[in-house]
Amino acid sequence: MIILSVNAGSSSLKFTGFEMPSEDVLISGVFERIGIDNSFYTIKLNGEKIRKEVELANHSVAVGFLTKELLENNIVESLDEIKGVGHRIVQGADKFDKTVVIDERVLETISDLSPLAPLHNPAAVVGIKAFREFMPNATHTAVFDTAFHQTMPEEAYLYALPYEWYTDYAVRRYGAHGTSHKFVSIRAAEILGNKDSKIVVCHLGNGGSLSAVLNGKCIDTSMGFTPNAGVVMGSRCGDIDASILPYIMKVTGMTPDEVDTAINKKSGLLGISGVSSDSRDVEMGAEEGNKRCILAQKLYARRVIEYIAKYYCILGGIDMICFTAGIGENSCATRKSIIDGLKVYGIKLDEEANKTRGEEIMISTKDSTIPCYVIPTNEELMIARDTYNLSMDK
Ligand code: AMP
Repeated sequence: MIILSVNAGSSSLKFTGFEMPSEDVLISGVFERIGIDNSFYTIKLNGEKIRKEVELANHSVAVGFLTKELLENNIVESLDEIKGVGHRIVQGADKFDKTVVIDERVLETISDLSPLAPLHNPAAVVGIKAFREFMPNATHTAVFDTAFHQTMPEEAYLYALPYEWYTDYAVRRYGAHGTSHKFVSIRAAEILGNKDSKIVVCHLGNGGSLSAVLNGKCIDTSMGFTPNAGVVMGSRCGDIDASILPYIMKVTGMTPDEVDTAINKKSGLLGISGVSSDSRDVEMGAEEGNKRCILAQKLYARRVIEYIAKYYCILGGIDMICFTAGIGENSCATRKSIIDGLKVYGIKLDEEANKTRGEEIMISTKDSTIPCYVIPTNEELMIARDTYNLSMDK
């Protein structure tokens, strides 16, 4: 059975085609600059990467090219062989606590949630419509970044703000990267051979979030009402004192939109280092002795350490700490700073194992009180698994 995993952005469309249940990747690719000039797509197939410059007026045109590639490369003989299409949706708020089959009501709800994810949910709706047009017989599913975090208790997801802001304006913690947290925590529980476990997942990419997972259920996460909460990120500030914002607006005359841009695009590693939002550049700067790069790295590690310490208490101990996503999987220096900062718990880094990048490996010593692992995430596969299961149920 062939399942497509899809991630539609406002001007991009990423996809991976899986043979299920074997989970073999048949094809993957990305359409870029949809609706803009110089649009193109790249496809990975049989270990080869193909790039084609084409006009992509809208998402529907992109899906048209995708179907052509699937047929011409004999991935399928007919589009009816694609039994399921899983669509990544950034914001499901408290309306969805799991992956669902998309019907008109689901589509409408995703669209209604657009004020909470103005850049992402409208793009996902466009993507869903385009795929349904070409693959009307497939089971289309919505896989929400927020769904995994819906098991948080009230005291974890509520802010100490006027309660009406929650009831009238839906202001609460929703979290993000849920598909990744779910994938990694399931794998961690498998490694531990124990479903009843206390796991901390550190998803550290350009965006970053941690989650505390108790017996397979998320009980806390660091991202909040928006993806700009919690740890330091590439260009996002993470947790700050909320009163800084009205203060800065008053003293500088900045508008709400300007402040929003500053905290989302000019802060984080970029804001502190003044060099880059990319951790590789900051790492290089730090190695060359750039003081602000060194400071940015310290601040980054400190915030992650603080969250792990907090989750140690909330979970009542930790059975495994997992590192994933671009920085978590590849930055040996960042992992070292974080694990060294957790010495007080008896956690010890295996310096040799920590040199590994992008592979599943235990990076703590055998006598470490808590095992630490790198577990590469695979959101596309998680989407495909959920979609496969729902396609089988139909
Ligand atoms: P992601 O959002 O998961 O794609 O992660 C992107 C982040 O991972 C960027 O900050 C990259 O600099 C970082 N990253 C990727 N490879 C490495 C590496 N080899 N060393 C350090 N950071 C890396």
